[in-house]
Amino acid sequence: NNQESISNRVDALIRPEIRGLSAYKVQAAENLIKLDTMENPYHWPQGMVEEWLTILQNVELNRYPSPEAEELKQQLRRVMGVQDHYQLVLGNGSDELIQIIAMAVAGTKRGILAVEPSFVMYRLIAQVLGIPYAGVDLTEDFELDLEALLSKIETENPAVVFLAQPNNPTGNLFGEEKVRRVIENCSGLVVLDEAYLAFTESDLLHLLDDYDNLVIMRTLSKVGLAGLRLGVLIAQQEWSEQFNKVRLPYNISVLSQVSAVFALQHYDVLSQQTDLLRKHRSDLFKALTQFEQLKVWPSEANFLLIRAKQQSAAELHSQLKEHGILVKLLDGVHPLLENCLRINVSSESENAALLSALGKLLPAK
Ligand code: PMP
Repeated sequence: NNQESISNRVDALIRPEIRGLSAYKVQAAENLIKLDTMENPYHWPQGMVEEWLTILQNVELNRYPSPEAEELKQQLRRVMGVQDHYQLVLGNGSDELIQIIAMAVAGTKRGILAVEPSFVMYRLIAQVLGIPYAGVDLTEDFELDLEALLSKIETENPAVVFLAQPNNPTGNLFGEEKVRRVIENCSGLVVLDEAYLAFTESDLLHLLDDYDNLVIMRTLSKVGLAGLRLGVLIAQQEWSEQFNKVRLPYNISVLSQVSAVFALQHYDVLSQQTDLLRKHRSDLFKALTQFEQLKVWPSEANFLLIRAKQQSAAELHSQLKEHGILVKLLDGVHPLLENCLRINVSSESENAALLSALGKLLPAK
């Protein structure tokens, strides 16, 4: 029948590595407090929203966006303190930048390497592109296992190494010295992913001055602009020139460009929000450590990793959902994340709702 014939045709034509994959899954979140995807919970002040809407009125959707997004890049340079001699490459989220880098640099002969557990898109994009991927486990306390990592770099000879600092989902920093050792002992390109920069004191942009096999990746998603989808790669011109050949023309929409320029002109509003979230992080950390049934790891990002010590994390995940709260279940993702959940740091009221639900689900002994 028709159904069978199309399935056969698809099976015959879709590349086997794609057939074997599952699409990146986003949990349904309707009517739930979303603590699962590291969004900033805050909105803009009403006056700012009105000013933005006025700007949108003048956008010409019949025209292609500015191909180089120069005005946006200028604002990004200012906010991120990027020196003139470095170039920016923009992506539709840093996800797209990971894909651009993978397509431009890696291939079937020299693949991609990342630590595990870390951001899953490094591996997923490699798989989609048919690029060999090697993962190196972090230690039990989520530090870089430098010896194992350097030895794997030597045997695999990867074209690209992805390192997220702070790391997702573990929330910790690997430290400048260890990062330097990796870059120095790798003949491939090291991509330092600073997606959570706004929530940490660590800022390794200055390392670009010291190495020619390093690029820095950032995003506006975690500071309050997740809906815009805007990732930023900071690189020496020799690298950016090559990545721009792979980047699709007009990849940053006109709506994203004008909205991001506007938001960056009001960056103080976003900074106040991220500063507040940093404060909430330490309050939430303290509150969560009061639960004997939970292990809580310190975090330099806008999320906290916890482990359920006495019951199943999967069960706790669904019980929290019944209480209207959505978190990320990590059990099964990697052995080091056994029985773990990742929870976004959010507004005072959403954090309080989480703690109240946990109070009911994990009663004091
Ligand atoms: N890097 C890391 C480490 C992340 O955790 C994420 C989002 N979860 C990204 C990159 C992707 O961010 P975006 O595509 O929204 O810029």
